[in-house]
Amino acid sequence: DSSSPDPGTLDWSKGGGLLPAVVQDAATLRVLMLGWMNHAALAATLDLGLVTFFSRSRGRLWTKGERSGNALELVSLRADCDRDTLLVLARPRGPTCHLLRPSCFPDAPGAALAELDVLLAERECERPPGSYTTQLFESGVRRIAQKVGEEGVETALAAVAEDDAALLGEAADLAYHLLVLLRSRGLGLADLERRLAARRTGAPSP
Ligand code: AMP
Ligand code: ZN
Ligand code: ZN
Ligand code: ZN
Repeated sequence: DSSSPDPGTLDWSKGGGLLPAVVQDAATLRVLMLGWMNHAALAATLDLGLVTFFSRSRGRLWTKGERSGNALELVSLRADCDRDTLLVLARPRGPTCHLLRPSCFPDAPGAALAELDVLLAERECERPPGSYTTQLFESGVRRIAQKVGEEGVETALAAVAEDDAALLGEAADLAYHLLVLLRSRGLGLADLERRLAARRTGAPSP
């Protein structure tokens, strides 16, 4: 990996030869877990292409997934500003947490939306038969746009009726169809995110 830091330039002094390594899902950027790497763990990670830690409880190298199969395939590895912490982007082969949850940390706000966006990109590319999303993509942008309009009206009506359960359900329908519409035009949640960020007060316009 061309972006991997040279181990010799990292600051190993603070943690007694161990650096904390934050692991993010490369597709969703969700934080999956935190582990510790020594020199050998970093070398093994780069060598195997599988995230490998130094297990402080076992006192040995630990390739995540070595027993469960739920390994973390290395995508990229970077150091932070003062080179005492590692950020690892990885593709998880299964749930990262030993409690069989995708992440060791509770859901961040927006995680479900980000995961849906990734799923929609997969569906658009693979077009599995029998999937409602496939059917929508094949029906074309005009039909998808019409669905967004319908769900928008249903959302508005539920809000006016003060039915919060219906409002949430319709808002979820709207969010799903909106992401499908964006995807059908080659856009995604990241593009929406950039546009919103550009609107923050004080931020320069794009
Ligand atoms: P694995 O590396 O997935 O084969 O799991 C081997 C053992 O490591 C498990 O039985 C747990 O004790 C521990 N373990 C696995 N995943 C995690 C994790 N994300 N955080 C902390 N401990 C873990
Ligand atoms: Zn730092
Ligand atoms: Zn966990
Ligand atoms: Zn609806």
